[in-house]
Amino acid sequence: MNEIKTHNNIEIAPGCLACYTQGRLTFYWYQITKDTTLEQIEQALDVGEIHKRAKTSYACGGDEVHIQDNDFCGGEYMSAKELFGYVQLLKLIPDFDYVRAFKEVYLMQDEFDYPQGNHAVEVSSMFKEYAESVQVFDSIYDLENYLDDNFMEYAEMHNTPEIIFSFINWKDAREWLLNDYEKVDMGSRIFLWRKI
Ligand SMILES: [Zn+2]
Repeated sequence: MNEIKTHNNIEIAPGCLACYTQGRLTFYWYQITKDTTLEQIEQALDVGEIHKRAKTSYACGGDEVHIQDNDFCGGEYMSAKELFGYVQLLKLIPDFDYVRAFKEVYLMQDEFDYPQGNHAVEVSSMFKEYAESVQVFDSIYDLENYLDDNFMEYAEMHNTPEIIFSFINWKDAREWLLNDYEKVDMGSRIFLWRKI
């Protein structure tokens, strides 16, 4: 699952659980974009639809669906409402890679709260905090510049004679700063945010 991702969708592989336990793989890949509706996701998770798209005859008689695979570290039993929740997250962030970066670090369903049990999905305060503080860098060079500025600010070095800079171990300084951050490489971009 390490190929380069497009930023504008996430993918799930809805599968038939009965087929799976009978040793048959019945699943297909389905893309969720910012325009996908809850109804479309419900349809995508329909057990009949799964057999149709997977071109497997619906002989198992099963009715349980699981998410056999996905490309954003999601769970096996995500509901349609949860999956639609990811579309809702896009109101807070520019694209799905922000979700991927978050899920590289946090486990399970930390991006959601479930105020009324499993079926009512709300964006968690944790994800809101992440969305507000995450910074994205296009290169290591940009990230290092940011950290160096950060370090100079922390050490109140703005009036320090420049000669002093050459005596600083910038690599150690950056590493020391990064202790307070989560950092995820996502394709050509680096996602950085303060540990929550
Ligand atoms: Zn089946």
